[in-house]
Amino acid sequence: MTLAILSDIHANLEALQACIERLSPVADRYLCLGDVVGYGPNPNECCEVIQNLHCVAVVGNHDQAAIGQIDPSWFNPLAAAAVRWTQEHLSESSKRWLLGLSEVVMEDAFEAAHGALDYPATGYITDAWSSTPTFDLMKRDLCFVGHTHVAAVYAQAKGHQMVGVQQISSGGSVELKDGFRYILNPGAVGQPRDGIPRASCAAYNTEARVVTIMRVDYPVQITQRKMRDAGLPELLWRRLAVGR
Ligand code: ZN
Repeated sequence: MTLAILSDIHANLEALQACIERLSPVADRYLCLGDVVGYGPNPNECCEVIQNLHCVAVVGNHDQAAIGQIDPSWFNPLAAAAVRWTQEHLSESSKRWLLGLSEVVMEDAFEAAHGALDYPATGYITDAWSSTPTFDLMKRDLCFVGHTHVAAVYAQAKGHQMVGVQQISSGGSVELKDGFRYILNPGAVGQPRDGIPRASCAAYNTEARVVTIMRVDYPVQITQRKMRDAGLPELLWRRLAVGR
């Protein structure tokens, strides 16, 4: 079985479609790690596409802000402006769907949250130290998270506290070994922040126990033009071209 993993779509429909085109030949099932909306110009279209994939899905902090569950004043001014824009443009059916998402999902083979297991929608795992609470809370040997917009793998030998970290920005495969537990971040579909503008997504082959990070080209200029025409802040659409 191959699980296709999408995170931090951020209402970027062109990036989402490019990732699905790449993943669909291998995907048996989809996992969405949240932040379907926020920043980008197509929140409703992205909610609809994700719903049609019948994903296992968790809610992200931008999704929660868009439906009024997080106060936008917690966000930086640009993100807060995008939250307000999203609130004004989100359809009732998108809101209803986002409201129904849980913060954590647990399956037989993995757990997932947007940020971290201790603070599911808002916690950041950026290094070995910040990964520790999630390793401590994990009931499975594998946990998928997003939120940082940077693809990475954290590995911990069972029965040990030490954590190894590897950034996998340029793509590639990670073999999950027996005797280890893993936290895996597939990077962001709609707003990469590792200096590479290509969309980031992942595929997990559960038999081979291999996770492959994919970087996918998409027409950045189309998304940028839509954002500019929608009146979204200039810095938010300019950053897409540089992946920061
Ligand atoms: Zn995000």
